[in-house]
Amino acid sequence: MAQNNSFKLGILGGGQLGRMFIQSAINYDLRIHILDPDADAPCKPYAHEFSVGKLTDYETVLKFGEGLDLMTIEIENVNTEALEVLVKKGVKVFPQPSIIKLIQDKRTQKQFYKANQIPTVEYYLLENKKEIFDYQHFLPAVQKMGKEGYDGRGVQILRTAKDFEKGFDVPSVLEKMVEIEKEISVIVAKNEQGEISYFPPVEVVYHPEKNLVDYLLSPAQIPQEIEQKAIKIALEVIQKLGMIGILAVEMFWSKQGEVLVNEIAPRPHNSGHQTIEANYTSQYEQHLRSIMNYPLGNTQTRCLSAMINLLGEEGYQGNAKYVGLDRLLSMKGVYLHLYGKKITKPFRKMGHITVLGESMEDLTEKIEVIKKSIKVISE
Ligand code: ADP
Repeated sequence: MAQNNSFKLGILGGGQLGRMFIQSAINYDLRIHILDPDADAPCKPYAHEFSVGKLTDYETVLKFGEGLDLMTIEIENVNTEALEVLVKKGVKVFPQPSIIKLIQDKRTQKQFYKANQIPTVEYYLLENKKEIFDYQHFLPAVQKMGKEGYDGRGVQILRTAKDFEKGFDVPSVLEKMVEIEKEISVIVAKNEQGEISYFPPVEVVYHPEKNLVDYLLSPAQIPQEIEQKAIKIALEVIQKLGMIGILAVEMFWSKQGEVLVNEIAPRPHNSGHQTIEANYTSQYEQHLRSIMNYPLGNTQTRCLSAMINLLGEEGYQGNAKYVGLDRLLSMKGVYLHLYGKKITKPFRKMGHITVLGESMEDLTEKIEVIKKSIKVISE
């Protein structure tokens, strides 16, 4: 491991993932340069250098990257053409631009799984809304916009032909609706030397109405056979991509006992926040180690844990105010993370809480108390 403090590491995106990444980078005495379109982004106060600009703009990304030693991302929606040029100019970019490009579009992701025999949900590619009407036999189905969908936006459930009207009129994927037993996620990492590691699977619990993560359990409470399948698949995905960096592999464990890849994210991920307190190495540190080509860290869990997203309360918009913190701060093994976003909006990710549990009972009791007490409202 060799690096000096003139080493310049840039991140495209300055949100909460970048902010937690900076916390790890400080321990390695690395200086982080950030590009984000928002002058008030969560990374702003902590970046060594902070530039405001559009992540999808070719010239902006090119200018930002020139002179950096290494670049990474905290969001996939970035200009990959500029990154390709930067690689030619000698800047290291991990994950590699071609992989970011592949992942930007759920359609090319699907084609990648198919070409590499990675188990995934059965699907068709659609060019426009008109085509949906040919797939009545395929219902119930889930239509997903190829590009720019995130956190449930750009995902539409089509149960009967009546739902076709609300379909997206853009290139999309039409997937068979899976009978989901549990949603699980495995975060894997690889460095340039080819060293590879995985975090124990976590279980994502979704809120039934909001279609957003409600809380997450680590390690996932799943049979060993399913755990082994999930780990094997996640490792296969990163190997076949040949990717350097950290990769979150979201999967469905179906009621029929299959493990199917839903989607992948080539960066630190919401399903890995709890690793900061609950694993020997956090996902942020592992990402840093993998892109810097350092030895990878031990990923074992220290204990049972949960991660609760702190979302903006419905009906409130404006300067954020956090209520009910006192109760939470008096609890053992409970850690608060606020992302520093000035403005709250309904369901906006404003922070998260990690909860360590001595038993499942202890953990679920704490989760219930926390969910009832803390709220993000506006002033
Ligand atoms: P996003 O990229 O917006 O997170 P996802 O593809 O992860 O979108 O879908 C969001 C959620 O919708 C999933 O976590 C899951 O709960 C549900 N979902 C997605 N695809 C399917 C499917 N084929 N069958 C059943 N539920 C699905």
